[in-house]
Amino acid sequence: MLSSHHIDELRNAVGADSLITSPAQLQTYECDGLTNFRILPGAVVLPRTAQQVQAVVRFCARHKIPFVSRGAGTGLSGGALPAEGGIVISLARMNRILHVDLANRYVVVEPGVINQHVTQRVAPYGYFYAPDPSSQSVCTIGGNVAENSGGAHCLKYGFTVTHTLALEVVLPNGDLVELGSAAPDAPGYDLPGVFVGSEGTLGVATRVTLRIVKRPEVVQTLLAAFDTPQAAGQTVSDIIAAGMLPSALEIMDTLSIQAAEAAVHAHYPMCGGLLLVELDGPAIEVEELMREVRALCQKNGSWEVRVAQSDEERAVIWKGRKAAFAAMGRISPNYIVQDGVIPRTALPEVLEEIDRMATAVGLRVANVFHAGDGNLHPLVLYDRTIPGQEETAIDLSYRILHLCVDKGGSITGEHGVGKEKQQALGYMFSEPDLATMQLVRCAFDPESLSNPDKVFPRPRLCADQPGPYKPHPLEQAGIAEIF
Ligand SMILES: Cc1cc2nc3c(=O)[nH]c(=O)nc-3n(C[C@H](O)[C@H](O)[C@H](O)COP(=O)(O)OP(=O)(O)OC[C@H]3O[C@@H](n4cnc5c(N)ncnc54)[C@H](O)[C@@H]3O)c2cc1C
Repeated sequence: MLSSHHIDELRNAVGADSLITSPAQLQTYECDGLTNFRILPGAVVLPRTAQQVQAVVRFCARHKIPFVSRGAGTGLSGGALPAEGGIVISLARMNRILHVDLANRYVVVEPGVINQHVTQRVAPYGYFYAPDPSSQSVCTIGGNVAENSGGAHCLKYGFTVTHTLALEVVLPNGDLVELGSAAPDAPGYDLPGVFVGSEGTLGVATRVTLRIVKRPEVVQTLLAAFDTPQAAGQTVSDIIAAGMLPSALEIMDTLSIQAAEAAVHAHYPMCGGLLLVELDGPAIEVEELMREVRALCQKNGSWEVRVAQSDEERAVIWKGRKAAFAAMGRISPNYIVQDGVIPRTALPEVLEEIDRMATAVGLRVANVFHAGDGNLHPLVLYDRTIPGQEETAIDLSYRILHLCVDKGGSITGEHGVGKEKQQALGYMFSEPDLATMQLVRCAFDPESLSNPDKVFPRPRLCADQPGPYKPHPLEQAGIAEIF
């Protein structure tokens, strides 16, 4: 519980117009995109400078008050869920693009810059920022860095970590440090690599240097309709086996197509498995590879192959794909977005198994996925008003993750561990593995103040590893037993 003295100190740190303490306004910050975890923070601050972030973090360090950084709050694993009685540091007002260096192909931005704004800023000069989460019109670079976010085009261009050259970070003790460098191959430990994907547990990013990429000469997008997602999945394996590296390889099943069509009318062919292939590069190369892709689609039974004829057509195709999560509300009152990874070659059998598991419990699962990296997004559809159905849906979604790990995959491809998958991390890693990760966390945050009680399966304090055991809410609900 924050005292009036604490509130006065925070007001001095950021100014009265950047401090929120009224319970009604605090509710905006009680969850992220994963709305079934909610905690009201003690206060929210909206700093405008790294120095204000430092002042707030120093306040937290002095009083041993936990803090959680927040970008746009679109995270899907509860990463920005506040700590009980803690401070939320919203970076939304630190939203300036500070510097563009085209000659050296990088931009320097504040963490609250919206992902898409980076590309919009450099597009007139023939450049783009490659990581493109489907939420890119609202999510922030700070959130992308913390989650190591991906997107459809990361198959060819790499995730956020590949594009983060340097970071300015406020450490949990309030020190301001530089990690990495805009110059290639910075000496020393790869600390930007450590920070990217650390889910807000190592401090607050206050400035990010991002790599930008030259636009290819030609981009072509193909849609191929199959009777089953398995046939589309086989085509993905064949394309990769043929030595091609498309810039995107996405699959949507019937339910996803129905939802996307209802939301944005993308004119997709209604089919069991829709494959979306994007190729980019020199015109002559793209033309040749497109011919090969077409042939592979036909070999695997595609009955309609369509290539977008204009930038407008391409944009509509992508609009449907990127709207797929949000569009699920059109076909189901409630749904859970899962995020697992499997080896690409296991795609057909895993899809069949998911279908079998869903049928066995009387639920529907829509599938939309970054097929090129084996990153599945099963969407478990349910109706909260039907007694017991939410529990069944949660249980099914965890069983799907379990299946992914059993097939040699992972519990998250891009949405992070956050609050939601803490228990599942213990299924992938042994205690010594987790203790090693904890050593890294403790080097940055010995007081466990920065986004505590996230990622790790048990609450752990640096002072007395492995920390006092407290049952996780999922454990109390019996769900953790799955893991
Ligand atoms: C419809 C929809 C589609 C999505 N599609 C994708 C997708 O294709 N690919 C993908 O990867 N994700 C996707 N996401 C998930 C989400 O958008 C990403 O995880 C995104 O990076 C979160 O950014 P944010 O600004 O909303 O961060 P938040 O949700 O506010 O925070 C996410 C995490 O980052 C930490 N954080 C935020 N800012 C900072 C900072 N400055 N310093 C340190 N830590 C910080 C927070 O503490 C939290 O742990 C999707 C979400 C939605 C709702």
